[in-house]
Amino acid sequence: VSEHKIALVTGANKGIGYEIAAGLGALGYRVGVGARDDVRRETAVEKLRAAGVDAFGVPLDVTSDQSVAQAAELVQRQAGRLDALVNNAGISGELSQDWTQDPTALDLDLVRTVVETNVLGVIRVTNAMLPLLRRAASPRVVNVSSSVGSLTWQSDPNVDVGPVMAAYAPTKSFLNAVTVQYARWLADTNILVNAACPGLVATDFTGFTGRTPQEGAATPIRLATLPDDGPTGSFFNDDGVIPW
Ligand code: NDP
Repeated sequence: VSEHKIALVTGANKGIGYEIAAGLGALGYRVGVGARDDVRRETAVEKLRAAGVDAFGVPLDVTSDQSVAQAAELVQRQAGRLDALVNNAGISGELSQDWTQDPTALDLDLVRTVVETNVLGVIRVTNAMLPLLRRAASPRVVNVSSSVGSLTWQSDPNVDVGPVMAAYAPTKSFLNAVTVQYARWLADTNILVNAACPGLVATDFTGFTGRTPQEGAATPIRLATLPDDGPTGSFFNDDGVIPW
């Protein structure tokens, strides 16, 4: 069993997930690079290794029971436990040119797809990894959410939460709600479960508008490395707690 802490980041081949993997690697974590595409995953693993990170590839499609079960087996074989799980993989679903998703014209198949990835994917991965997390001394689960999932902010006319995204935003509210249920259920364990908003980050997701992925990775990394007396069941961005 490795003396180094072990992390798994989903959707780690690019964007914020890649930088979370790089940042945890720089802190000395051995990092599982969860990614569904073989070429993109191996390219990211090579790049991380070149940067000095002890990275290993984990084939992982969060929408597939089989893929997720195999990923848990691989982490078991590679590391025997998991100190940090960062559920980062996420999609927006198709947007209009003005970045909106009109609730009155939603394609239900699109909604199903976004829920499947952003919510069910997190539940699927978390439950598969829980036996490994339970073997760590100070396990942490971080769900990469978004401030657009804050119903408090969405319903406050004085807060700018950007365009109406009627498929995407509710999946992050749903993910936040799921985060609270895990935190409650695991409250008498050493597993801390929190949600993170990375801010508006320049990735494929946003058409490369916003701050750097390294900046976006900071809050997820902080929550993945919380001390034992750290919070659980909360939602954070760089400025602190975000209201649900
Ligand atoms: P990117 O589109 O750059 O990266 C998304 C990652 O998720 C990719 O690695 C992608 O893999 C992976 N992914 C998507 N679907 C699956 C799947 N079914 N199984 C496994 N991996 C999958 O986006 P970001 O880095 O910007 O987003 C990361 C997270 O941050 C998301 O959860 C997003 O909702 C959240 N977020 C982003 C914000 C931003 O401004 N960018 C703002 C707020 C939240 P592949 O390359 O194979 O598609």
